[in-house]
Amino acid sequence: MLSITTAQQRPAAVKTVRLYVFENGSIRGLDPKLFNFTREELKEVDFTNISYLIVHPKGTLMFDSGAVEDSHFKGDGAPVTEGIMSASKPLLPQLASAGYKPSDITYFALSHYHSDHTANANAFASATWIVQKAERDFMFADKPEGIIQPAQYSALKGAKTKLLNNEDFDVFGDGAVVIKSARGLTPGHQVLFVKLPKTGPVLLAGDLYHYPEERTTGRVPTFEFNAEQSKVTRARIEGFIKQAGAQLWIEHDIATHAKLPKAPAFVE
Ligand SMILES: [Zn+2]
Repeated sequence: MLSITTAQQRPAAVKTVRLYVFENGSIRGLDPKLFNFTREELKEVDFTNISYLIVHPKGTLMFDSGAVEDSHFKGDGAPVTEGIMSASKPLLPQLASAGYKPSDITYFALSHYHSDHTANANAFASATWIVQKAERDFMFADKPEGIIQPAQYSALKGAKTKLLNNEDFDVFGDGAVVIKSARGLTPGHQVLFVKLPKTGPVLLAGDLYHYPEERTTGRVPTFEFNAEQSKVTRARIEGFIKQAGAQLWIEHDIATHAKLPKAPAFVE
């Protein structure tokens, strides 16, 4: 058979859903008080920073984009430290190790606009951006305030956009990859439900929780956009998790991600 290779060659389609985990460094030196905890009440205070690529037979979805911009790496292999954040590897080479370029990505979604999730968002402006209207409105307000760095995602303003109104979105139409509205931390925070063929259903929680102890105590951080809304959202999402029989992966939780394979290996 004749095999044709072009410069625009796309990655081969997959037969079943897979999930890649990318490591985007860590956050150290956080004050537990910000999360309404004492040091003694938390098993682990530090965060890991993670982003995910979901590959479905019909396309791809990148969920979150790291905490340190790839352009801040010097290319000499040295880690980058920015305040309490540090990272030892840029994101796009990890994506490439899985076989994908940003231009291969069909959909891009952020759990929320906090800058420890948006670092390389501009790289994905050629994808269709899935975002809640309230989140987008906040991100492109005249003077957005809070844990936000608009320059990191400015290119999304002109991206093809799937705008949601506090609603869920079944990304590939078969229930295997579903963006779920989960507002409270920010006006349009979202979580991602993924049905994996071997692992089973997983809910990628974004920052619905930062620490597992938030889940067990019901406490919410001090910096929520709307703490009451967060509690309502958490109750709804917990109900969904129970009904779906899903695992919950807290994006900043070191223990959860320590057990998972990292790209180019993937979770099935
Ligand atoms: Zn975060």
